[in-house]
Amino acid sequence: MKELIYLDNAATTKTRPEVVEAMLPYFTERYGNPSSIYDFSSAPKEAVANARETIAKSIGAKTNEIYFTAGGSESDNWAIKATADAYKAKGNHIITSKIEHHAVLHTCQYLEDHGYEVTYLDVDEDGVVDLEQLKAAIRPTTILISIMFANNEIGTIEPVREIGVIAKEHGILFHTDAVQAYAHEPINVDECHIDMLSASGHKFNGPKGIGFLYIRTGVKIRSFIHGGAQERKRRAGTENVPGIVGIGKAAELAMETLAERAAKERELRDYLIKRVMAEIPYTRLNGHPTKHLSNNTNFAFRFIEGESMLIMLDGQGICGSSGSACTSGSLDPSHVLLAIGLPHEIAHGSLRLTLSEETTKEQIDFVVDSLKSIVERLRSMSPLYEDFLNKQKQ
Ligand SMILES: *Cc1c(COP(=O)(O)O)cnc(C)c1O
Repeated sequence: MKELIYLDNAATTKTRPEVVEAMLPYFTERYGNPSSIYDFSSAPKEAVANARETIAKSIGAKTNEIYFTAGGSESDNWAIKATADAYKAKGNHIITSKIEHHAVLHTCQYLEDHGYEVTYLDVDEDGVVDLEQLKAAIRPTTILISIMFANNEIGTIEPVREIGVIAKEHGILFHTDAVQAYAHEPINVDECHIDMLSASGHKFNGPKGIGFLYIRTGVKIRSFIHGGAQERKRRAGTENVPGIVGIGKAAELAMETLAERAAKERELRDYLIKRVMAEIPYTRLNGHPTKHLSNNTNFAFRFIEGESMLIMLDGQGICGSSGSACTSGSLDPSHVLLAIGLPHEIAHGSLRLTLSEETTKEQIDFVVDSLKSIVERLRSMSPLYEDFLNKQKQ
């Protein structure tokens, strides 16, 4: 069988075996409902409390500021919709950026249909939000700034601390979608003046369908799922105990290994970039050169159609991701690549490869070798490329 080379860790990650092992007893032996009174429920109750404590510590928060959710999308929806609701007496204006994940963008668009006003900040060619534009966008009615910690497509890390300072100076709440950054970058909510933070288990070797939202003490926030009294009456529903145990274990392991894992990934990532940029002409490297997630690369190959490239890579056992959204039934290139100023035809030829700690140099060499011949093959079939070569000869 062909070896699988999984370079799509921004889409999801493999659940660590230790995480699965930690979860298993909570399905079969310690399956009690944490809300029950009898002693049989004390083990699951304690497991939930331990996971909450591990996660709180990992971002410098208090345990009662962590709320478990069903993932990053729910955390983003909750933070934004509930703030909009709870603070509507103060104002109806929200500031976000053009490069947010759809969980944030579509939530903001939903609120625009319900009487809220949203400013979508531009980013520069590296994907960094413009802080001057942020300051200028603030109105007396601004209730929330929601800017991601790091971008899921191009890996750019935003100036979160500076944004937090600006938000604090103006008495505006600051939410950050840290789904890509959590467990990959060190985060401290106090240092960065973050009021709300979203994260998701399956992006850092935990299970799918479990995430958390950090909500700073004092933030007025409405309950998101109505029902029972779980999660301090803010998020009803019997706790996903195995999931919570899993995300807690994944967080514990990720925090222990963060520095060495990031260093290892960065070294291989830089090697991948070096080879691609040296060996494949007419290629652009997307994202900020230094303020960048350690495992992310995003290239745009001119004269190439991203989807064809992905299919051919798949034929070699390589999983990557392209910046065009053809899979979702639209031919529009990614909103992120357009926001950094790439013309449509270049944005279409983009490829995101995101590494994990299990990625090896041999895999990277195989990927670059495959990529070289795929790009050559696709270009040789491209009339645009032929035109380009002819013009160069003249
Ligand atoms: C994956 C992702 C999400 C969504 O998280 P889910 O747990 O899949 O709902 C939100 N924001 C960013 C930046 C992401 O990468």
